[in-house]
Amino acid sequence: MGYAEFYRRSIDAPDAFWVEQARLIDWHEPPRRICDDSRPPFTRWFVGGTTNLCHNAVDRHLRDRPDQPALIWVSTETDGERVYSFRELHAEVNRTAAMLKSLGVGKGDRVLIYMPMIPEAAFAMLACARIGAIHSVVFGGFASVSLASRIEDAEPKAIVSADGGSRAGKVIAYKPLLDEAIRLSRYKPQAVLLADRGLAPMERVAGRDHDWAPLREKHLDAQVPCEWLQSTDVSYTIYTSGTTGRPKGVQRDVGGYAVALAASMELIFQGRAGETYFSTSDIGWVVGHSYIVYGPLIAGMSTIMYEGLPIRPDAGIWWQLVEKYKVTVMFSAPTAVRVLKKQDPAFLKKYDLSSLRGLFLAGEPLDEPTARWIGDGLGVPIVDNYWQTESGWPILTIANGVEPKPAKLGSPGVPMYGYKVKILHESTGEELVRPNEKGVVVIEGPTPPGFMQTVWRDDERFVRTYWESIPGKQVYSTFDWGIRDEDGYFYILGRTDDVINVAGHRLGTREIEESISSHPGVAEVAVVGVADPMKGQVAMAFAIPKDSAVLGDAAAALKLEGDVMKVVDQQLGAVARPSRVRFVSLLPKTRSGKLLRRAIQAVCEGRDPGDLTTIEDPSALQQIKDLFNP
Ligand code: AMP
Repeated sequence: MGYAEFYRRSIDAPDAFWVEQARLIDWHEPPRRICDDSRPPFTRWFVGGTTNLCHNAVDRHLRDRPDQPALIWVSTETDGERVYSFRELHAEVNRTAAMLKSLGVGKGDRVLIYMPMIPEAAFAMLACARIGAIHSVVFGGFASVSLASRIEDAEPKAIVSADGGSRAGKVIAYKPLLDEAIRLSRYKPQAVLLADRGLAPMERVAGRDHDWAPLREKHLDAQVPCEWLQSTDVSYTIYTSGTTGRPKGVQRDVGGYAVALAASMELIFQGRAGETYFSTSDIGWVVGHSYIVYGPLIAGMSTIMYEGLPIRPDAGIWWQLVEKYKVTVMFSAPTAVRVLKKQDPAFLKKYDLSSLRGLFLAGEPLDEPTARWIGDGLGVPIVDNYWQTESGWPILTIANGVEPKPAKLGSPGVPMYGYKVKILHESTGEELVRPNEKGVVVIEGPTPPGFMQTVWRDDERFVRTYWESIPGKQVYSTFDWGIRDEDGYFYILGRTDDVINVAGHRLGTREIEESISSHPGVAEVAVVGVADPMKGQVAMAFAIPKDSAVLGDAAAALKLEGDVMKVVDQQLGAVARPSRVRFVSLLPKTRSGKLLRRAIQAVCEGRDPGDLTTIEDPSALQQIKDLFNP
C-alpha cells in the first residue's frame, strides 16, 4: 500500500486503522471502543482496554530476549558505562517500584523526577508506569523557581532526584536547588528519594529524604506486579512553556501512547527488536520520554542513554557509540549537528557506521546546509520530523516504513497517519488550500492516539489555549506558522506565540521576563528570540533600569547585565539565560500598552519591523536600532 492510501485509511476509517496498530502492544483486556470523540475536543482512545506501559516496555520481552541489552548507559562526564539486559532492567524496575511503594506512592499519585541522565531516572519512570503512579519528569537543567512551579502544579507525593549532574566536567549540585524549590513551593512532598553519585555533598532532611542505595538493598528480591490500567488513565505529565508564564502540564494516557509509539517505531523509525536505538536527547524532554525510554523498549530494542556532550572527549564520541553498539536508528537535534559541523569532519569517517540506517532530527527547523553536511558525511538518510511536547510523536515527517518517499530539504515532510493537518488564516480561520500560502498550522480533531489528553487538572485551559485560538473553528493550534507546497510537503516558519526555541529547547519569553523583573534593579523588560546561526534562536532581553544612571554608564550596565543573568540562572536555569541584556529608557509598546515584541525581534534581526501605526513612541524602537548599529 502506498503512503497516500495508508494515510487516507487512517483518516477515513480511524477505528479499523488503529485497531490494527493496537495489536502491536499487549493488552490485559482488549478495548471495547477504539475512538471515543463524543465530547470534543477531548479524545479517548481504546476505551475499556487495560494495559501497562512498563509491561510493554519490559516484562513482555523477558520471554524472547531476556539477555539482550535493554538499557545501555554511557556517561562521558563520569566515565561510566553500564549495560542492563531486559532481565536486569526488570529487576531494577521491580526494586524501584517497591521502593516507591514503601514511600507511600500508589496508583494515581504523582512522582516528580528531577534527575541527571542516569539509569535510575529510567528505572523511576518505568517503576511509576508499573504501579500506575503518574510521573512528571522535570529537565535537570531547570533551577529552583522553574522546579517549584512544577512541584506546586503536580503535587507529587514523592520526588526522585540525585546529588548532582555534570556538564562539560563541571558538577551541578541538584540537591540545593531541589531543597530551595521545595521551600518555595506551597505544596510539600512527603518523601524524597535520592541517588547519590558521589558528585556533590547532600544534606538530608530527616524523615523526608531517603537514600536510593540502602533502600534498594531492602528490596533486592522485590516482585511488584504491573498494575493493569485503563487505556485512558494518565501515564504522565510533562511541563512545557506557552504564552503565559505558568508552564502547562501536558497530560498523556496509557494505551493510546503505547500504541502510538509502537506504530511509530515500525512505520516511521523502522526500528526492529534486537537492534539498537540511540537518541541523544534528555529524559527531561518529550523526545526522551518517547524515544529514549518508552518507544525503543516497547519495540524490543536496546536503547542508549547518554550523559555528556557531543564533543567530549572528542567529536567522534557519538560515532564511536554507533560502532560499538551497532546503532541502527539515531535521533538528535539540528543544534547538535551544527556543533559537530564546527569540528574536524574526519570524525565522521573514523568509525564503522555501517549499522546505521537513518538519522532523525527534530525540535527546531533543520537548515539545508546542516542537513546536507551530516547526510553526506554519514551517508545515511536524514529524516527531519516535526512535532511537539503536546503530540508525543511526529506530526509531520516521512513514513519510510510505509513507503519510502524522497525528503525535501527544508521540509519536515507530510502529515503522519492519524493527523488531519491544515493551514488556516490566523484571523479569519479560513482554510488556506492554495500552495505556499502562509498561515497557522492546525490539527483537526479527533487527535490521534498518543496526543495530549488535556492540561493537567485544567480542562478549561486545554480548550481555551489550544482549541479556541482560531476564530470560529474548533481546531488544535500548533502555534506554528507554516506553508504547504504543491506536493503536499509542509514547511514550518516559526512560532505564532511568545515561545522561542533555543538549541531545540522550548522556552517561554514571559517566564524569562518574569524572572528578570524580579531583579530589584529592573523596572520593565521585554524578551525576544533572535535568529542565531548555531542555536537557531537566542533570547535577547531589553530592560529599563530603575536607576537611569545605568544608561549612561557602561560599567554599571555591564554589572547589572551580569547580575540579571545570575538571577535567571538561579531561578530558571542556564538554559533560559538570555544571550544579552541591553538597557533602554523606553520599550516599544502600542498605545494600549502592549509590548511590540515582533517589532523588536525584526529590528534585532535587521528586518523591517512592519506596520508601526499603533506604536506609542517610535523613539523606543529607534533606541533598540541604535544598540545594533551604533
Ligand atoms: P517542543 O514542544 O519542545 O518539542 O517544541 C515544539 C516546537 O519546536 C514546535 O512547535 C516547533 O516550533 C519546533 N519544532 C519542532 N520540530 C521541528 C522541526 N522539525 N522543524 C521546525 N520546527 C520544529
